[in-house]
Amino acid sequence: MAWFTKTRKPIAPTDKVSRVPEGLYLKCPGCSQLIYNKDLAANLAVCPRCAHHFKMSASERLAMLFDGAYAVHDADLVSTDPLEFTDTKPYKTRLETTIAATGMKDAVMTATGSLDGIETVIAAMEYAFIGGSMGVVVGEKITRAIERAHALGAPVVIVSCSGGARMMEGALSLMQMAKTSAALARLDRAGLPFISVLTDPTTGGVTASFAMLGDLNIAEPKALIGFAGPRVIEQTIRQKLPEGFQRSEFLLDHGMIDMVVDRRELKATIARALLFMGARRSEPPGPSAAAALGVDAAGETA
Ligand SMILES: [Zn+2]
Repeated sequence: MAWFTKTRKPIAPTDKVSRVPEGLYLKCPGCSQLIYNKDLAANLAVCPRCAHHFKMSASERLAMLFDGAYAVHDADLVSTDPLEFTDTKPYKTRLETTIAATGMKDAVMTATGSLDGIETVIAAMEYAFIGGSMGVVVGEKITRAIERAHALGAPVVIVSCSGGARMMEGALSLMQMAKTSAALARLDRAGLPFISVLTDPTTGGVTASFAMLGDLNIAEPKALIGFAGPRVIEQTIRQKLPEGFQRSEFLLDHGMIDMVVDRRELKATIARALLFMGARRSEPPGPSAAAALGVDAAGETA
């Protein structure tokens, strides 16, 4: 259960003395119902009543998609604060506090393992790390992950969750757009598949580079996906934006993405697509996403 409870805040305690232990229930922002934590965990952090998709951490994503153990790459790469940037506080301090809070050195995890028996390189972005922003380290780790897949002859899956380029690294962060895109072009020339998974939110320089370059671009339901935010666009064009603008379903209707897939179907959908695109299983088919997390249908942790 620890994989799940540690990343979501419990409901604030009331003044009344409660017999329910703290953190046992969560309030769903989609339907305002109280959800038993175990029910949510058994459901891959999707509300059982209204299918609201809660955010997942990078490590939860990897655990959900891989069949079992996986090898993490480049976990020690860390930003050097090349511009010695300061906004409301020094970037160096911001990095230090975020590293301490998340236990990660930057906003992406990259790893190799089996996805339903297919050897796959997966990158998962971490929103809790400065809004999942892409700086030099994120760009370098994603590029290395793609190059590693290229050398292995394996497909790539990138799960995006990002506010865009990391402004504290200025133009260096923008260069990561070109760098990751160039690596993906080489992967494409080698005939290896890349599946992009866009989750809530995927915006800015991430949308404007690798997140939209998948052979298949899959979004989770109701995810915010766009370049500039809706408020900025409204102020610029002085027009009211249509209902559901920049959400997955709207983008599917307008041809910006290929599929909207419920998280509970995501692993099976990715595996099916990879096999269709010519990937081969090197191991027998793996367990379902929920089973890979050690959670059975009743919500009990194995
Ligand atoms: Zn709900």
